[in-house]
Amino acid sequence: MRVAVFSTKAYDRRFLDRANAGGDHVLDYFEARLDATTAALAAGYRAVCVFVNDRLDAATLGILAAGGARAIALRCAGYNNVDLAEAERLGITVVRVPAYSPEAVAEFTVGLLLALDRNIPRAWSRVRENNFALDGLMGRNLSSRTVGVVGTGRIGALVARSLRLGFGCRVLASDVAQDTGLVAIGVEYVSRDALLRQADIVTLHCPLTPDTRYLIDAAAIAAARDGLTIVNTSRGALIDTAALIEGLKSRKIGGVALDVYEQEADLFFEDLSNEIVQDDVFQRLLTFPNVLITGHQAFLTEEALSAIAQTTLASLSQIEAGQVPANQVTPELVRPSP
Ligand code: NAD
Repeated sequence: MRVAVFSTKAYDRRFLDRANAGGDHVLDYFEARLDATTAALAAGYRAVCVFVNDRLDAATLGILAAGGARAIALRCAGYNNVDLAEAERLGITVVRVPAYSPEAVAEFTVGLLLALDRNIPRAWSRVRENNFALDGLMGRNLSSRTVGVVGTGRIGALVARSLRLGFGCRVLASDVAQDTGLVAIGVEYVSRDALLRQADIVTLHCPLTPDTRYLIDAAAIAAARDGLTIVNTSRGALIDTAALIEGLKSRKIGGVALDVYEQEADLFFEDLSNEIVQDDVFQRLLTFPNVLITGHQAFLTEEALSAIAQTTLASLSQIEAGQVPANQVTPELVRPSP
């Protein structure tokens, strides 16, 4: 199949070319992000391959369909950036990579939490300047804390397991479905409200849907324990960033670790070190000493990229062979929780 690959980085190309060594598909790489202004680049391609910040809204999908595209392959698990109903209406099949390496994201989440909690990035920048003073670097033991895990799917379950068995935390969980394996190791399922009220640390691992958008908003922050720590490696819009900043300013929130950000599409995955960043909200976030941000890199391991490339190409082969692809995404997946 002829595939237009958007938002290509050198590492995408390396792993996709390796997975396509047999030459099953023709892969043409574009650095541009896919949206309505770049969709014409895909004219004549049967499929497009995209990532988290490509915007596949109705306008983009219309241009893709007119150009002959019949398949969209997401190189990621999330699918909140695709208008699935419109894709279905246009006869475009959408596939994703539901589970490429949940370990990659879960391990990064725990790493981010520890780095924030124990001030590791601040300590490292001090030591590089021969400043070995410890004032301001006080942390707290993880083992004494209650952690709330929102969404105990592939990634959330690994995080819950690691925090419960590895660190001895009390772990609360909220999900539309309970994982009996987690219950067996002492993870306690509670309502989302109860979790937000009782947790010292909240870590987000549910998908972004209409039901979960702004799950952490001003009301949730007001109801939380003083000094709450928030970790988000899922999707930026699970958090209302304006409310987060107010919570940090008032010290209601004690720490924030983010790998994702609501408006990340204008920032992440690019080197903007010589640019003037226009996003004042993001710049304000960077000013807090108790905020740690990475640029959507939790997935970035050798194992994950290899699995993403293999699953993506296998899905395209299934579509080309006229089969129903195993990892198809349909509008039914985006339904509110009961
Ligand atoms: P998953 O589908 O295995 O798990 C998601 C879980 O969330 C499921 O158990 C589901 O029942 C639950 N859920 C759905 N709606 C909910 C709600 N309203 N409240 C509570 N729980 C709810 O997905 P996963 O593989 O664990 O991935 C989780 C998220 O992580 C993805 O949606 C994606 O956005 C994000 N992600 C981020 C990165 C990164 O690099 N930062 C990489 C991969 C995935």
